[in-house]
Amino acid sequence: MRYISTRGTAPVLSFEEAMLTGLARDGGLYVPETIPTLTHDQIAAMNGQSYEDIAFTVMRPFIGNTFTDAEFRQLIANAYGGFGHTARAPLVQLAPNHFLLELFHGPTLAFKDFAMQLIGQMFQLALGRKGERVTIVGATSGDTGSAAIEAFRGLDNVDVFILYPHGRVSDVQRRQMTTPTESNVHALAVDGDFDDCQARLKDMFNDFEFRDGVKLAGVNSINWGRVLAQVVYYFSSAVSLGAPAREISFTVPTGNFGDIFAGYIAKRMGLPIKDLVVATNQNDILDRCLKGQGYHKGSVHPSISPSMDIQVSSNFERALFDAYDRDGNAVAQLMTELSEGGFDVSQGAMQVLSDTYSSGRASEAETTATISDRLKTTGELLCPHSAVGVKVADEQREEATPMVTLATAHPAKFPDAVEAATSIRPPLPPRMADLFEREERLTRVANDMDALKSHIKGALGL
Ligand SMILES: *Cc1c(COP(=O)(O)O)cnc(C)c1O
Repeated sequence: MRYISTRGTAPVLSFEEAMLTGLARDGGLYVPETIPTLTHDQIAAMNGQSYEDIAFTVMRPFIGNTFTDAEFRQLIANAYGGFGHTARAPLVQLAPNHFLLELFHGPTLAFKDFAMQLIGQMFQLALGRKGERVTIVGATSGDTGSAAIEAFRGLDNVDVFILYPHGRVSDVQRRQMTTPTESNVHALAVDGDFDDCQARLKDMFNDFEFRDGVKLAGVNSINWGRVLAQVVYYFSSAVSLGAPAREISFTVPTGNFGDIFAGYIAKRMGLPIKDLVVATNQNDILDRCLKGQGYHKGSVHPSISPSMDIQVSSNFERALFDAYDRDGNAVAQLMTELSEGGFDVSQGAMQVLSDTYSSGRASEAETTATISDRLKTTGELLCPHSAVGVKVADEQREEATPMVTLATAHPAKFPDAVEAATSIRPPLPPRMADLFEREERLTRVANDMDALKSHIKGALGL
């Protein structure tokens, strides 16, 4: 299995190389050259299997000879062994034929743990046997950073630096990043918004001297390994609801387009997915684009679902690559236009996108109303991101097809928004109940490449 860049000119890599690299050297994102498919019988056989067994079947075709079967099974077992639920990704029913897929039973209470815990394991084994060390730099709107720090803290071959927008993450998210005591963990509070953090990260990757000097590696959702790990729960949940004999639809609270793109990969692999619904908050650039209005950047409006506050949705590039028939030149051209403000999607590509995805948005008031209404009608306490999904799913679902809405975070990760909607302050699970007593450690940095680079080099002793 080989990996190619969405901009067409970076070297073709193996799974291991693509995973350890993150962003391609031509600025693109790595995607598999071909998408392997599973047969109807292989999917049917997942019925009743453990999450870990399903994970092995789904991911194995993508990893080539990076790990042996025994190694890969062990990595999967290590990754999910620390989750707080034996089903790993349990389904809960909200209404007739509407289900919530709870993806928040990992160590940092958001779905990012599914990918990050596995990436941590894969990095450790791959780097350890090569005797190499890398510097992971990630940008986060809150959940990726905490998941990355949790996955890499204390590992021998890795330093991890996380850039987060100062003052724009929740207290729980911040404390999950600033309270680990391991010396290989560095939380950097950037004076800017998430798009600034993401832009500085891309600048670092495009500065080859720095990139090679510190052996930069990326674990943002641009990392193919992350998308891959997220494909698994589409299979596990769909099979629980009757796939492959029955079609299932999914609604996904979306920001950087990694999670929904994993759903698209599941569909391409043969899972009978009917609708893939992109749900956005008031930062609805993706909803507008998928409705044919082009992709034109504005400014970010901070919302109660901050992990979806975004204008530049990185993984959308992967969707565009397929919509433009895998034409790397066309994608590179669009991304140049994007850096100058935005682009319009060609008619042919728009047709492909609307055949693949539908979309909707939820305002702040609608999100709050959904949290409060679902508590009354089902007893479920939704986090604001999941509520965005539930609201959009309710508008789009058809009676005949089961709809699964992804619950992307635990309500206790966003207690202010949940309390404002319901008057209930959701408690943290017991294993992290002392989070607010732990000491914080962070560095405030300017939204400036030179300041960031010199801080990172200094911390590494270079
Ligand atoms: C990251 C995140 C999202 C958005 O996921 P993408 O893969 O970036 O589209 C939604 N909800 C929560 C809670 C998140 O942490």
